[in-house]
Amino acid sequence: MTTSHVILGDGIAGSSAAETIRETDPDADVTVITEEGEALYNRILIKEFAKGKLPEAPVSIHEPGWYDDRDIDLELNTHVTGVDTADKVVHTYDSGTYGYDKLLIATGGTPIQLPVENADAEGIHHFWTFQDAREIREHAAEAETGIVIGAGLLGIDLAAICGAQGVDAKYLMRGNRWWRYALSSDGAEIIHDALENIGVEPVFESGLDYFEVDDSGHVSGVVDTNGVTHETDFVGIAVGLDYNTEFLEGTPIDVEDGVLVDQHMQTNVEDIYAAGDITEYYDVILEDRTQNGAWGSAKEQGVVAGTNMATDDTTKEFRYVPSYSITHFDFPFLSFGHPTIGDSDAERKYSESEWRRLTFKNGKLVGGVLIGDLSQQSTFKKIIRQERPVADQKEKLLEKDVDLDALAPSAIE
Ligand SMILES: Cc1cc2nc3c(=O)[nH]c(=O)nc-3n(C[C@H](O)[C@H](O)[C@H](O)COP(=O)(O)OP(=O)(O)OC[C@H]3O[C@@H](n4cnc5c(N)ncnc54)[C@H](O)[C@@H]3O)c2cc1C
Repeated sequence: MTTSHVILGDGIAGSSAAETIRETDPDADVTVITEEGEALYNRILIKEFAKGKLPEAPVSIHEPGWYDDRDIDLELNTHVTGVDTADKVVHTYDSGTYGYDKLLIATGGTPIQLPVENADAEGIHHFWTFQDAREIREHAAEAETGIVIGAGLLGIDLAAICGAQGVDAKYLMRGNRWWRYALSSDGAEIIHDALENIGVEPVFESGLDYFEVDDSGHVSGVVDTNGVTHETDFVGIAVGLDYNTEFLEGTPIDVEDGVLVDQHMQTNVEDIYAAGDITEYYDVILEDRTQNGAWGSAKEQGVVAGTNMATDDTTKEFRYVPSYSITHFDFPFLSFGHPTIGDSDAERKYSESEWRRLTFKNGKLVGGVLIGDLSQQSTFKKIIRQERPVADQKEKLLEKDVDLDALAPSAIE
């Protein structure tokens, strides 16, 4: 009997699941539904496009023909409004219903819109889709002044776009440094200097109070939490994601911040899986539930979900150490694992542009941030995967070149 798979979302998680299902079960019916008007593109590259450095073509990953070639039904511009888990049917806004045998939820997140005065004014940009990138690129190319809000991994993309497009920008940060959950002042200082070098001024202990607009409804200023008005004609804001779970309301599927899944990407409801940014998954290395927003992780979750959907025994497990790099500056930057959690940490600054921080939980390495020298990344990922208790050997882990054999034998399980 042919199995009908319906996949909600054509991001990297949904798309890699569809590909995996097709490779595993040549006879399956596979439908991918997305509210976007274009097939899978490289979300990581849209910032380079918005900087004005890349044309459109290299950002695309799949032409619609890719789906035809694999006999995958791609439904563009189709907004999912509900799921009936009893009748196994997906409801859409104006494109009818889709019955399924197995369902994958891979709908990711949407940038949070802060509920402040004039938040919907022209010239205020959130950044998630290729279409957002087109609008940001066009506006940044002509804007003279800019304000960026959100001291994290997406905010810094908006700051780098301003820098690359010659926008005279200020970057408002709530605390005393960029990405304060993962970086100490020593590490963040390297980033602050790099921002200054590309023409972006960090402003600390600040934040958004409300926007001012001109007579045409275009943003003209940002009033910060200290009451200071920053005149601007461009605003980029990245303060986190709302996960796209509203269409699951009223279903028995367990949802907290995201959709809860086990290590097999399976929800609490039989035949329903989730993958990608939207999951709160059980991490077998951390032995805890966690969430992660990274391309490689979403892709691997899609493969795990697709494999388990297409085979009768749900055995493939998500066992993965994610990483996320920043390429805006003349030095490399990489965060790996879970650098914002842990019960202890260790760090060292090696030079003006080289720094390392490692985080530990229950005696084990769980994540870190490398600036300037990424040569040890595979060693650290290996230690995480091996679940070695190494928290008592921080000095050895901070040596420039880590010698795995030099770690105390008692630490090797
Ligand atoms: C600007 C930017 C830069 C990034 N840079 C990096 C980086 O350098 N490194 C890295 O690892 N990660 C990066 N990321 C994060 C990475 O892109 C995401 O983690 C990854 O794309 C998540 O994939 P996903 O498939 O889970 O979700 P998404 O890519 O968000 O895909 C979800 C899809 O579902 C659709 N959808 C949502 N709701 C509905 C609905 N109700 N009906 C129909 N369709 C719906 C959405 O429109 C979307 O197409 C970046 C993200 C952005 C925005």
